Amino acid sequence: MEHHGTPTRPHPGDRAQAPDPRREIAGTDVLLRDPRLVEGARRLGPRLVKQAVAQAQQRARAGEIAAADVADAAVAALPRTAAQLRPVLNATGVLLHTNLGRAPLSAAARDAVREAGGCTDVELDLATGGRARRGASALAALLERVPQAQAAHVVNNGAAALVLAATALAAGKEIVISRGEMVEIGDGFRLPDLLESTGARLREVGTTNRTTAEDYAAAVGPDTGFVLKVHPSNFRVEGFTRSASVAQLAALGVPVVADIGSGLLAPDPALPAEPDAAGWLRAGAAVVTASGDKLLGGPQCGLLLGEETTVRRLARHPLARALRVDKLTLAALEATVRGPSTPTHTALHRDPAALRERAGRLAGRLRADGVDAAAVDSEATVGGGGAPGVVLPSAALALPAGLARALRTGEPPVMGRLEAGRCLLDLRAVPDADDETLLRAVRAAAGR
Ligand SMILES: *Cc1c(COP(=O)(O)O)cnc(C)c1O
Repeated sequence: MEHHGTPTRPHPGDRAQAPDPRREIAGTDVLLRDPRLVEGARRLGPRLVKQAVAQAQQRARAGEIAAADVADAAVAALPRTAAQLRPVLNATGVLLHTNLGRAPLSAAARDAVREAGGCTDVELDLATGGRARRGASALAALLERVPQAQAAHVVNNGAAALVLAATALAAGKEIVISRGEMVEIGDGFRLPDLLESTGARLREVGTTNRTTAEDYAAAVGPDTGFVLKVHPSNFRVEGFTRSASVAQLAALGVPVVADIGSGLLAPDPALPAEPDAAGWLRAGAAVVTASGDKLLGGPQCGLLLGEETTVRRLARHPLARALRVDKLTLAALEATVRGPSTPTHTALHRDPAALRERAGRLAGRLRADGVDAAAVDSEATVGGGGAPGVVLPSAALALPAGLARALRTGEPPVMGRLEAGRCLLDLRAVPDADDETLLRAVRAAAGR
């Protein structure tokens, strides 16, 4: 029987044979007894630990690491969690970066998610032992923040909110929509296609740049399911333009569904052109739809806020069951709405002078460590389908462009942006608490 216990050394009698380096590499069973890997298996499960071990052994066989370092390499290769998603520092200057999961959750929301991960009373009234309305406390939290809404419902994302409204209120009927608001929301998904997939027909009115209340009035009739107002959240039409307000549309006597996109519940002085749920409900929208993971700063979900009878119709439609959110989303949403200021809100409201001071300080520390770094002014954006055209003055660390890859593949990965031949690490969306982590990552990428 082969013993992998201790690295086998050539017997004195084997003098003719060169030592086989593979023999020196500890076997899997032995490595798995390393206390650090035992602890890893308890935390991550045996599969991932065995993978890390096999990978380290392979590296030793390939001569990339010494046989004596296999255990250390396996420990270093253990993932942080049993899922492969890795936390990334968002230094892109895009506050809501779709490829980075849009809004980062607040610490309060993360805590709530962790607690909700087990069995929870998501649909149970503990006082009576009977069934409770699913997510009632998250919905109540939304209604407290938006008193203009009589009722609320939550689905998987903003697109699902529109699909539910179109299906429940306009299947077999017409949705009246301006040609200026037939938008693509990203990744090839177009609102008109999404709406028509529900069996509703689109009644297009007006032109790309100009649509008046009269255009809508002429199209509204017995076939109308609702009038849809969409906030063009990822582009701007400038020049000779006109559009009808929600108040004008509400005066037409048919329900108005208003898609604000971003999820601002109330006006934000930093984004004066961005519509908010309270404002469009006050203007007479029957239902406002929005995303939870944009400017609201919460988890991915779709909000439907508005008139009691209409929202109830949506919530009771059979399709609502297919679009319902899980307990983790409800927990994160409630904590976002009830809890402290979100990271997205903080990033949006940073003082540019403080950002410049911070960039100068960090760049100075990097230069002291021999890293080619400078503090530069930068322009951040909201991104993720919100506040198109809005420039947020910011500050960045400017590094050699060649560091971008090492930063991206480091631990933690840092995503900057390439601009004018440099790698910029924009600080607006990087929490202050991550400054030391950022410095460590940059030094490591620069080999300092
Ligand atoms: C982002 C957006 C959507 C889609 O919302 P998701 O949550 O991404 O599904 C729909 N309408 C508008 C105006 C948007 O900005």
